[in-house]
Amino acid sequence: MAKESTIRTPIVCVMGHVDHGKTSLLDRIRGSSVVSTEEGAITQHIGATLVPIDAVTRMGGALSKVSVNVPGLLFIDTPGHHAFTTLRARGGALADMAIVVVDINEGFRPQTIEALQILRNYKTPFVIAANKVDRVPGWRVQENQPFLKTFAQQNERVQGILETKVYELVGKLSDLGFNSERFDRVSDFARNICIVPTSAITGEGLPDILMVLIGLAQRYMTESLKVSADGPGAGTVLEVKEERGLGMTLDLILYDGNLKVGDEIVVAGNDQIIETKVRSLLKPRPMSEILIEERFERVKSVTAAAGIKVAAPKLDGVIAGSPLRAVRSGNRDEVIEQVRREVQDIEVNLSDIGVIIRADTIGALEALSKELEGHQIQVMRATVGPVTRHDVIEAGTIKDPLYSAIIAFNTPVLPDAVDALADTAMSHVSIFEGGVIYQLIDDYVEWRDEKKQ
Ligand code: GDP
Ligand code: MG
Repeated sequence: MAKESTIRTPIVCVMGHVDHGKTSLLDRIRGSSVVSTEEGAITQHIGATLVPIDAVTRMGGALSKVSVNVPGLLFIDTPGHHAFTTLRARGGALADMAIVVVDINEGFRPQTIEALQILRNYKTPFVIAANKVDRVPGWRVQENQPFLKTFAQQNERVQGILETKVYELVGKLSDLGFNSERFDRVSDFARNICIVPTSAITGEGLPDILMVLIGLAQRYMTESLKVSADGPGAGTVLEVKEERGLGMTLDLILYDGNLKVGDEIVVAGNDQIIETKVRSLLKPRPMSEILIEERFERVKSVTAAAGIKVAAPKLDGVIAGSPLRAVRSGNRDEVIEQVRREVQDIEVNLSDIGVIIRADTIGALEALSKELEGHQIQVMRATVGPVTRHDVIEAGTIKDPLYSAIIAFNTPVLPDAVDALADTAMSHVSIFEGGVIYQLIDDYVEWRDEKKQ
């Protein structure tokens, strides 16, 4: 049987400055499902939301005339730069595209600029959501309407304010080297970044942003989205979680091929490669079935792109951010080698003496270690997961007290680690916790320089 290649659903990440509306935009997209039983309804995946193409066209964005061969859009439910940069697939970003949310009334803020720089580095296509248009003084809300329809309903003064604000964004983008335009004036997606005025609260402009994403996928990535739907599954682990009645499970974004119950799979653990077999594949139950006892629905197989929970034996120690590969037709050694190589690519340079670092995913660990390297701060051990008692004790025995520190990026400190730290024998050890790398490094450097004196 010939291997048929199909175009898979592109994976989309939402980025932008805090409070500009990332979470609200995702919530609104999730909530716009008309009736959950209807064909082509928006569905909840594990860690992601699927908007099928029918739902997009039904909403009627301004570009609905484009010939559509992309099956829909899969939105990663965790917004933010951190999610974007730490979720990897084959050495690049897991997300194929991004939405950069900017509050149209506030304009660009530091994290907006950081998001744009990241996207440029990864060469990831994106669209700007000029959000909170409903806050433009005098705006008359037209729930869920495409932008041009609602724009036509505004008076001239309001239209003028909006235009001015859009042009301020165009100017800022131009300073950063991006050509951009309001989306309805863009004819070539390769030349211009689309700016779509939206409201995450009223749903205005939402149909357009979805259509622009579909347009971007068609324009840029029909080649890279070609997958063989019957090929062996490849995915990225979002989270490793213990679930009642299921044991350890992996929340996975599958981005290639398919995964079946019984498939032999290979994933990366903290210090070894793990081989195991898929026991069950679980999807969240639709909202309407919430009264059913079981939270998850079992499926026999799943095809990319999808968010799925994988239950299997031996998942203890799997690291978030790890690649997962299915083994088919006896290419086991090759697959193990692939996973090993992918993880090694992200490996951190370690020294005999240095700080201990922790992060929530391998990608995050890499990002942190790169920055530390840039500041000539040596790392002795780098692992995924919360800070443990053992970490504290180890940090306590490091010969150079300037390195008796643990840097924890986006990951908690376990209670027994806190207890260990309270011990007078460990009084020279410090833990630096937080979600911003630069801040963590500044804090550590300040502590170290004080100690030096
Ligand atoms: P995030 O930090 O980027 O995820 O931002 P949130 O989605 O949490 O939004 C921050 C605040 O802005 C919340 O109070 C939202 O209700 C509000 N907000 C977000 N989008 C809009 C919008 O389009 N219009 C209005 N009026 N408020 C919004
Ligand atoms: Mg948020």
